[in-house]
Amino acid sequence: MKNGKTAIIIGSGIGGIATSIYLARQGFGVTIYEKNASPGGRCSQIIREGHRFDLGATIFLMPGIYKKVFRSLGLNLEECFDITPLPTLYKILFGDGTQLLFSTDKAVLAEQLETTEKGSYEKSQKLINQGYDFFLLALDKLLGRNFYRLSEFVTLQNALMLVKLKTYMKHKTLVRRYLKNPNLQKAFTFQNIYVGQNPDTAPALFSMLAAAELTEGSIFPAGGMFSVTRKLVSVALESGVLFYYNAPVASIQTDGDKAAGVILQDGTVSKADVVVANADLPYVYRELLPDKAKSKQIDRLRHSCSAIVLHWGLDKIYPQLSHHNVFLSADYEANLVKVFREKSLSGSPSFYIHAPVRSDPTAAPAGQDSISVIIPCGHLDSKHDHNWNDLKNNARESVIARLKKLGLTDVEEHIKFEICYLPQTWKSVFNLSKGSVFGSLGHQIFQMGYFRPHNRHKKYKNLYFTGGSTHPGNGVPLVLLSAMLTSERIYKELQI
Ligand SMILES: Cc1cc2nc3c(=O)[nH]c(=O)nc-3n(C[C@H](O)[C@H](O)[C@H](O)COP(=O)(O)OP(=O)(O)OC[C@H]3O[C@@H](n4cnc5c(N)ncnc54)[C@H](O)[C@@H]3O)c2cc1C
Repeated sequence: MKNGKTAIIIGSGIGGIATSIYLARQGFGVTIYEKNASPGGRCSQIIREGHRFDLGATIFLMPGIYKKVFRSLGLNLEECFDITPLPTLYKILFGDGTQLLFSTDKAVLAEQLETTEKGSYEKSQKLINQGYDFFLLALDKLLGRNFYRLSEFVTLQNALMLVKLKTYMKHKTLVRRYLKNPNLQKAFTFQNIYVGQNPDTAPALFSMLAAAELTEGSIFPAGGMFSVTRKLVSVALESGVLFYYNAPVASIQTDGDKAAGVILQDGTVSKADVVVANADLPYVYRELLPDKAKSKQIDRLRHSCSAIVLHWGLDKIYPQLSHHNVFLSADYEANLVKVFREKSLSGSPSFYIHAPVRSDPTAAPAGQDSISVIIPCGHLDSKHDHNWNDLKNNARESVIARLKKLGLTDVEEHIKFEICYLPQTWKSVFNLSKGSVFGSLGHQIFQMGYFRPHNRHKKYKNLYFTGGSTHPGNGVPLVLLSAMLTSERIYKELQI
């Protein structure tokens, strides 16, 4: 039933679309303005010559959070998607030529860990159990709830929680207590990159990432991660949400301590009772709002890393690749310094390859392949000026050389076309601050919970935020949670 109120959402990323459904279901008349021609933002897709690519997100992490959010929308996850379970989460290929199938099948994992380091399997189970406890605790107390006041966050109970989550200890220090083999240590820490964090410096709390994967497993929805966007768009349309594409918002109109609506780049003025910004939060403060002091403060916050992505349409399938493949560099540590300290990219980077045809042959024409190479790199930083094309070319050569070693000797001859995303591309296509893709804001402990930029503006009380740079953080599952929390806050504050 309509409640007589209207809402405008800026951006049709996962956060914007999911929020639109919550609000429409509560009776709001909802309009989404999206700058690009299609929905999904970093969870959208590219189709060319019959090849289909997930543009950004590729791994369906933390299915438990999807289930929770979908259930709250009256949807059953299993009925929404044609799901293939992926017991092998990914194949990890180390710089020394060895490999590890990171698997939820305990027998498969045990055999490999024991071959690498005697006694390591049992220890890894303790590490995983502890990490999963962190995950559940963090979800309950830190990530899965709104903090309306500082006094709700700074409590003795929460201080104890931060101690329990071992936020005082480095993740790599924790892992070293359990595993001695350097490759195994890397296998249990590299996942920090998912949230744009440096595996070398991230706090132990992030052991929850590998633990959640190994405990809850991962799945592949037919059609890839874009099927999540597609499903949400169809539910939003059924709920009466209006979508306008190629409709960039130029500014948020303010009136005293309220947001009155938005002005589109073509001059159209659109008014609403509530405005929700899904576009990247630092960009919204900087480009769409008048108060520059707050924006400068947010720009100074730590940003996550960026990524160079190469989507290749190939006229051949290479069986050496699994669905998800993580290539760790022989210069692993030096590589991290390049990305996180020098905001650059080493000439022999670590990278990841998504090769979905192995689970979903419709992702490419018969007998052909669609693969995406994702190379984490530094974000744009005025103090570290680089020629990103040169960095990309060096990294690309290194990727090809690494693939040759794996037996993909003729890969370069079989690339029909390449689509490349550099840090500047992320910035210009999606307005991501500094071209940082895993946030954009980082997930340092003082940028989480109440300390992360809030999901409501302090001055404009009807201006809300949803997405990776507000609470709780980056990644499709957390962004879904963000939509749920922001919507809850809107109902509460508007007394719906
Ligand atoms: C390479 C890469 C790999 C990733 N891998 C994974 C993964 O495997 N698993 C996972 O869970 N997550 C992954 N992520 C992260 C995940 O994609 C994001 O966290 C999530 O999609 C962000 O959603 P969002 O709603 O916060 O923002 P966005 O997707 O950025 O959406 C914001 C939308 O706002 C629009 N917009 C911006 N400015 C304006 C304006 N002025 N007017 C109108 N519209 C505007 C943008 O065009 C965009 O559509 C990955 C991301 C990248 C880039």
